[in-house]
Amino acid sequence: MIHKIAPTHPRASSLIIREKLVDGFKNGIVVPHGLIAHGRGEAFDYLLGERTTKYAYEAEKAAVCLLLLSKKSIISVNGNTAALCARDLVTLSNVTKSRIEVNLFHKSVARSNTIARILKKEDAFDVLGLDDKSKMMIKDISSNRKYVDKNGIMNSDTIFVALEDGDRTESLVKKGKKVISVDLNPLSRTAIASNITIVDNIVRVIPNMIKISEQLVKKDKYYLLQLINNFDNKENIHKSLLMIKEGI
Ligand code: ATP
Ligand code: MG
Repeated sequence: MIHKIAPTHPRASSLIIREKLVDGFKNGIVVPHGLIAHGRGEAFDYLLGERTTKYAYEAEKAAVCLLLLSKKSIISVNGNTAALCARDLVTLSNVTKSRIEVNLFHKSVARSNTIARILKKEDAFDVLGLDDKSKMMIKDISSNRKYVDKNGIMNSDTIFVALEDGDRTESLVKKGKKVISVDLNPLSRTAIASNITIVDNIVRVIPNMIKISEQLVKKDKYYLLQLINNFDNKENIHKSLLMIKEGI
């Protein structure tokens, strides 16, 4: 399907993303709700000019520092993110030494296994969130996001999420965990509650973060700490919101 979109089409990159999600839907990775959630993100991306703003880039840099400084970091993968950037997510997990957990809002064993298979095909070392024996429940969450892997998200100090639900972000932060989120909507509860909020499209975020990681992995701990200390998440979200306003 993807090859049918002419690269010269003015909306090519946006249409390719749609095709990937439609393919993911047909392959049992993406749920219909995921397609709708993408629509909300796409509208914000349109207003941002479908590019990484300098504020998003700053947040991506701070996020890499946090992943590199964390003792146990984990990347939470859902249907949309697997359909859009499975290979890049695996690369990011390798360069930042983060584990990967499949965690779905609309739970299904078959879908989790399909996503895990795709990640493993892309050379993921191990994928958590599949074993019922290590499943744990976060008490104050009503959605299926409450189920996490006790060796994964539950046991991590930093959690990287995208297209996440506000309930769980708030709950994880309350538990003292650091949450990095990717959300094109700077007004969502996820965006507001996260420690680091990246207002950018996941398809640009992950390749950017891989490049940044390759540079920052050579830096010492104090350099990374200083970069994080100089990052103000609330201010950064506000700046992204102003960019959207300008887009309008
Ligand atoms: P919250 O529960 O945090 O208030 P929400 O319920 O409004 O959020 P969801 O329906 O859970 O939002 O959708 C997930 C979010 O993911 C949306 O805010 C949307 O902007 C964002 N999103 C969708 N596609 C992408 C993408 N490709 N890259 C980054 N963000 C995206
Ligand atoms: Mg929500």
